[in-house]
Amino acid sequence: MDYNAAFEAAIDAVRKEGRYRVFANLKRHRGAFPRATWQREDGSERDVTVWCSNDYLGQGQNPVVIEAMHRAIDEAGSGSGGTRNISGTTWYHNELEAELADLHHKEAALVFSSGYVANEATLTTLYKILPGLIIFSDALNHASMIAGIRNGGGARHVFRHNDLAHLEELLAAAPVNAPKLIAFESVYSMDGDIADIAGTIALAKKYNALTYIDEVHAVGLYGERGAGVAERDGVMDQIDIIEGTLGKAFGMMGGYIAGKAAMCDAIRLWASGFIFTTSLPPAVMAGAAASVRWLKAHNERRIAHQERAQTLMRRFRELGIPVLPSVSHIVPVLVGNPVHCKMISDMLLNDFNIYVQPINYPTVPKGTERLRFTPSPDHDDDMMDELVKAMDKLWSHCNVARMPAVA
Ligand SMILES: *Cc1c(COP(=O)(O)O)cnc(C)c1O
Repeated sequence: MDYNAAFEAAIDAVRKEGRYRVFANLKRHRGAFPRATWQREDGSERDVTVWCSNDYLGQGQNPVVIEAMHRAIDEAGSGSGGTRNISGTTWYHNELEAELADLHHKEAALVFSSGYVANEATLTTLYKILPGLIIFSDALNHASMIAGIRNGGGARHVFRHNDLAHLEELLAAAPVNAPKLIAFESVYSMDGDIADIAGTIALAKKYNALTYIDEVHAVGLYGERGAGVAERDGVMDQIDIIEGTLGKAFGMMGGYIAGKAAMCDAIRLWASGFIFTTSLPPAVMAGAAASVRWLKAHNERRIAHQERAQTLMRRFRELGIPVLPSVSHIVPVLVGNPVHCKMISDMLLNDFNIYVQPINYPTVPKGTERLRFTPSPDHDDDMMDELVKAMDKLWSHCNVARMPAVA
């Protein structure tokens, strides 16, 4: 077996479809978000504006967060020293979990290495704790939820995206006494649509199912204190398990679940993905706690964030640039072809100093390739002018379909 030829063939297969991924080498500058310096392969450098960060509010640059991290390093050193079981639970971990439980008005929270791990570990483990569990999963759920559900190995049914009638059909067909869980997201980050959380809760009650919501693209961003769309919609107390990340709007890294104390405790004791891995460093926990706490008290950042997203969508639509029907802070623009999508992204970077990466399969279905813009409160009008002008030019130059302009 020529192993290297097999690796080369795997790369070629991706390249032939026009979706070979090149990571832009960006150096960020503290305090200058969303600007960064892009280093090209030939070593030359250019200043660019980043339009696709999931650090939606620039919290990675918030002096309050950076200060908390510095302080924790000075107090406690670098790594955590082990798994939570052995030597890796610190004051910082406990403080963060208390902060998160308070954010969601839940009895407890449990932190994992990432949002991916939180989803994978929790969903897998729920099958172990609840024998005979049937999970009902939205068709567009994130890869980490799908991994957890698959690895758990139990019964599962996939309902059509956001289709509560289909979900009810599946719930009604399942054995009445079987334990059930509905797994879904609030904001779906590639289309920017939002689930009917209240409607899902109503079905869960009717069929005696638990609810599990991934609010990864909503925590920090929605609700009076940034607890997510369930808070905004006034239904947070009726969700059983809320899953979130510290890596996106909170500008750090790590993931978590929040819910009843017994649920968090059981997952803590049973989840392999929690038990057998070194916990995150104290400085990361301290930075995350500072970020969560700060955003609870700064709703004006959320208001400014929504305004920027709405403004960008309106300006694109005025030019007939096909924005998908988002009802969130995500501004997805349909290109519909992986080669064009990459070409437009390359031209934005090379000719206009604008960075937005192409979103191709397998992140989205083939034929729906898109550019996904995530304006933050710090993307000012001048930056937006530059972007909108560049997109207008490129849409004509590349002859990409427009929609009828909406004024
Ligand atoms: C990014 C993402 C995750 C994973 O979170 P990380 O903290 O980045 O590992 C989970 N769910 C959704 C919907 C995501 O987009």
